[in-house]
Amino acid sequence: MITFACFVPHSPLLIPEIGRDNLDKLSKTREAYQHLAYELYAAKPDVIIIVSPHIDLREESFVINQQPQLKVNFKKFGDLVTNLEFENDLGFGYQIKESIETSFPVILFAQEELDYGSGVPLYHLTKNLPKVKIVSIGYSNQDNQTHLDFGRAIKEQINKSNKRVAVVASGDLSHRLHKDSPGGYSPAGQDFDQTIIKLLNEKKVDEIVSLDSKFVEEAGADQCGFRSLLILLGIIKSINYRSEQLSYESPFGIGYLVQNFEIQ
Ligand SMILES: [Zn+2]
Repeated sequence: MITFACFVPHSPLLIPEIGRDNLDKLSKTREAYQHLAYELYAAKPDVIIIVSPHIDLREESFVINQQPQLKVNFKKFGDLVTNLEFENDLGFGYQIKESIETSFPVILFAQEELDYGSGVPLYHLTKNLPKVKIVSIGYSNQDNQTHLDFGRAIKEQINKSNKRVAVVASGDLSHRLHKDSPGGYSPAGQDFDQTIIKLLNEKKVDEIVSLDSKFVEEAGADQCGFRSLLILLGIIKSINYRSEQLSYESPFGIGYLVQNFEIQ
């Protein structure tokens, strides 16, 4: 059964060793993460399915990591201290792949070091859950509806298992909110973020799925959180949940939304 679901940002600056002086600028997001960590602990998950945009291997296919031990560190960002290790739920990842491979392009791969899109949320959410297992999934270049359907297919496998499953969709929103944003400024940036926030709060999943891909691209949101979010929405769409925004801020010109989907 699904016991927890959330959408979270993954700026490496959220890691204290990396963020340092910038941490205060992300205080809303950090507080929201703390709240989520408490909720996740209370949900007693056996396994966390984490969906990240920043797994290297992805194009036509969805990907599932089958490396037995998974490690999180942020050496690339200058943090030599943080080291986390998780056990991969290999059986569950394989079961998902087997059950959906006739309907979706999906490949297995093996990589010990998790990408930062997976690592930043796991760092914040699992402090009190050292034994939780992980299934690491990356999205594809398929269209929006396919991502939603992929999520729905995963949900069927969650229901067939006797596991308590948490789903964490990792991703930032627009990368074009200010003139100093990484993608430069576009008015579509603010428009996209406000549209997503409104549609999520109103649980209008079909309207999110049918957002125009040109608009998503113009907003600088196509390479990060959008398709993670679509998979998550596919997983929870037909179950009863309460959608709650915990925080939104954009101190560096990128939209950081923390949204909790409280399973009823
Ligand atoms: Zn990203």
